[in-house]
Amino acid sequence: MDRREFVAACSLFGISLPFQSFLQACSEDDEAAIVAGNFDGSVLIIGAGAAGMATAYLLEQQGISYQILEADTSYGGRFRTNNSFTDFPIPLGAEWLHVSESVFADTVNDESIQIPKITQRYTAADTYGLFSNGTLTVTELGSDANTFIDQKFINYSWFDFYDEYIVPSIRNQMQFNTQIASIDYSGDKVVASDTDGNQYEADKLVLTVPLKLLQLGQVDFNPALPNNKQRTIADATIWSGIKIFLKFSEQFYPTFLEFDDSETREGQRMYYDVAYGQNSEDNVLGLFSVGKQAEVYQGFSGDALRDYVLNELDEVFDGKASETFQDILVQNWNEQPFARAAYLEDNAPSSISRTMAASVNGKLYFAGCSYTQEDDWSSVHTAARSARDAVRELVR
Ligand SMILES: Cc1cc2nc3c(=O)[nH]c(=O)nc-3n(C[C@H](O)[C@H](O)[C@H](O)COP(=O)(O)OP(=O)(O)OC[C@H]3O[C@@H](n4cnc5c(N)ncnc54)[C@H](O)[C@@H]3O)c2cc1C
Repeated sequence: MDRREFVAACSLFGISLPFQSFLQACSEDDEAAIVAGNFDGSVLIIGAGAAGMATAYLLEQQGISYQILEADTSYGGRFRTNNSFTDFPIPLGAEWLHVSESVFADTVNDESIQIPKITQRYTAADTYGLFSNGTLTVTELGSDANTFIDQKFINYSWFDFYDEYIVPSIRNQMQFNTQIASIDYSGDKVVASDTDGNQYEADKLVLTVPLKLLQLGQVDFNPALPNNKQRTIADATIWSGIKIFLKFSEQFYPTFLEFDDSETREGQRMYYDVAYGQNSEDNVLGLFSVGKQAEVYQGFSGDALRDYVLNELDEVFDGKASETFQDILVQNWNEQPFARAAYLEDNAPSSISRTMAASVNGKLYFAGCSYTQEDDWSSVHTAARSARDAVRELVR
C-alpha cells in the first residue's frame, strides 16, 4: 500500500485537498510503552527536527545519556516558522495536524501534562474554489467538512508545540552548527565526524537527516549501508517543495483554491487561507506546492516569482490580487541546505520507509518522516512516531 492508497482506504472527503488528511480510525493504535532493558550506554542523535527532538526527549525520560548534533543554527528542521511576516506564526513547512489531537499527548508521553486546545477544525461554512477552464466555481464545504481531520493551529504551530513541551528538557544537549559528514560504526563505538573534522563517539546513533541528503551523498558510512538501504536511497522519489505567503489588504479568496492539476501522481498545489482561525486582522493567502507542480514556481525567483503568482491569481480573481497586494514571503525547500527538498512522494511504496526504518548492526538507528514502519509518512506525527519506534528498539 502506498500513502495515497492508505488515504483512500481511510475513506477521505470528496474534494481533493493537496495535503493529506487521515481519519483517526486509520491511525494504528499507538502503542506499546517504551520499556528500558539493560542498555545504559550513550546515544548520538543527528538532526534536531521533529524526529531528533522526539528521540532525545524519550531518551531523557528513560535517563539515557545522549547528545544532539544539528547542522543548522537552531532546531526545528522542516517545521520552522517565521514570526515577523505577520502577527501569528507562519508555518514555513509543516502547517496542519493530520491526525487527532491525541497525538500531542502521545508525543509528550507524560500523563501529568495537560495540553490545552491548540488546533481548530474546518467548518461547513468554509469555502472551496475550483478554477477550471477559465471559470472559478466556489462552494461551501458543507457536510464535506465533517470528513476533514486536518486542523490548523490557532496562533500557534508545530514548532511552538515542540518549543513548549519538548525542547525545555533537551535544550542543554543540543549542539548547533555541526554538520555530520561521516559515520563509522565498524568498531565497538559509533563515531560521527563533522565537516570540520571534529569527532563524536557513543554506543549507538540515531540518524534523522532527511532522505534527500542521503541521496545526495552528504553522509558517508563505514561500513557502507546494507545494499537494500543503498538501493532504496538511490531509487526514492523525493518531492520538491515550496510555500509562498502573500499578504493582501482584502480577503477576496475562498478558504481553499484548487486547479485541475492540483493533485496528480507527480505532485500537488493549492492556495489556502493561511490566516484561517487566527486572531489576526491580516489577510494572508498561502501557496502549498510539492513535486512537479512546485518545480514550476521554483523556476522563478524574486520579483519574477511574485509577478508569476500575482498574474496567476489575477486571472482567477479579475485583477484583485495585484490591486490589493502588500507583501510576499517565499520558502523554497529545495534551497534549504539541510533539507534540499520537501519529502518522500505520497506514491512511494511503503517498503521505502520500512526499509529505511530498519536498524543496522544494533548500532545505527533511523528516525524521521521517511523512516517509518507505518503506511503514512512525510508528517510531523509520523516523524515523532518513528522516534518512539527507534527508542523502543534501542533501549531493549
Ligand atoms: C512544504 C512542507 C509542508 C509540510 N506540511 C506538513 C503539514 O502540514 N503537517 C505535517 O505534519 N507535516 C508537514 N510537512 C512534513 C513535516 O514538516 C516533516 O515530515 C517533519 O518536520 C520532518 O521531521 P524530521 O525530523 O524527519 O526531519 P527534519 O525536520 O528535516 O529534521 C532533520 C534535521 O537534521 C538536520 N540535518 C540535516 N543534515 C544534517 C547533518 N549532516 N548533520 C546534522 N544535522 C543535519 C536538519 O538541519 C534538520 O534540523 C511538510 C513539509 C514541507 C516541506
